[in-house]
Amino acid sequence: MLKDKIKSLAKAYKEEVIANRRHLHSHPELSYQEFETAKYVASKLEEIGITDLEKKANTGWTALIKGKNPEKKVIALRADMDALPIIEANEVPYKSQNPGVMHACGHDAHTASLLGAAKILHEVKDQFEGTIKLIFQPGEEVAPGGASYMIKDGALENPRPAGIIGQHVMPFIPAGKVGFRQGIYMASADELYITVKGKGGHGAMPETLIDPVLIASHMIVALQQVVSRAASPKIPSVLSFGKVEALGATNVIPNEVKIQGTFRTLNEDWRAKAHEKMLSIAKGLVEGMGGEVDFEIRKGYPFLENDPELTARATTAAKAYLGEENVVDLDIWMAAEDFAYYSQEIDGCFYRLGTRNEAKGIVSGVHTPTFDIEEDALEIGAGLMAWLAVAELEKA
Ligand SMILES: [Zn+2]
Ligand SMILES: [Zn+2]
Repeated sequence: MLKDKIKSLAKAYKEEVIANRRHLHSHPELSYQEFETAKYVASKLEEIGITDLEKKANTGWTALIKGKNPEKKVIALRADMDALPIIEANEVPYKSQNPGVMHACGHDAHTASLLGAAKILHEVKDQFEGTIKLIFQPGEEVAPGGASYMIKDGALENPRPAGIIGQHVMPFIPAGKVGFRQGIYMASADELYITVKGKGGHGAMPETLIDPVLIASHMIVALQQVVSRAASPKIPSVLSFGKVEALGATNVIPNEVKIQGTFRTLNEDWRAKAHEKMLSIAKGLVEGMGGEVDFEIRKGYPFLENDPELTARATTAAKAYLGEENVVDLDIWMAAEDFAYYSQEIDGCFYRLGTRNEAKGIVSGVHTPTFDIEEDALEIGAGLMAWLAVAELEKA
């Protein structure tokens, strides 16, 4: 059976996948600067015998693995390759050698896993029908998102995949398990930049001033109405302000106050309405209080929806591969992920690879200086990805 063949290849290539992950981990590159990473990925693909690479979005690649009857159906597998501006605190042999840059979101694991899946799929390509498209993308961590550039550059054309599957490490799920969720899964994320302008001066003479600190205080409270009153209780929404800057003093009222925050939700229509609502609340408030406001909403990634049918099929395939007990259900997560761009274009399935190992102390969250993964999980990272693609092609 092909499933068992893939399992045994995943086992055989596990050490190589780990070695690739360690190489990538010790040589991390920031978003859109994945030049060495892209070269490494290309050399590994060529080593496997995959030579039709197409450069996309400057530091990204697509490549095809054609089975029998390659026109029949196309399924895409995606990995992201960028790292974060974090100083690694782990004392491990594969510690980051690029000061201040760290693979703290597991994109090294995603890239190494997809290279492993590619090696497996290339080896069994006479045993499935259809084509598998590999997508290695830059810049997941920084807006507007490498996925948006990959799509603009034609990553989803010639041939156009029927569906796309992506995986992400999850330090809250034990290694050995994976998680799936059908339907809405991750949030859209927009950045809010508000400048409240008034008229500063001596704190003892408020009657001659327009106090932007007071206006800004009201604004922070008033904007919460968007979540508490205007949002449908059925659609998760979150509005958080993490930066408020009023550079006055005990007796000095400044001319302006800057506020920064994030708005996240799981519905594109409501997202657009919420933007309008925030702008109108802010405008009405400053008008009433005599100030002015600059309100900039920088749109981030859209919300991520897992196609219910594709995800149901993938979940079933994962249970067949790993056993029912090793496939868990995921909750909605209000973080954002640029895989959402693909899922807005074609059927998408974004699932989680468990990488936690409490016994070894591998428990830190992503984006922390102590983040690491249980590398045993990479056998699943490579093997399951290969199997999910083949299982989906078999459903054609
Ligand atoms: Zn991240
Ligand atoms: Zn990530």
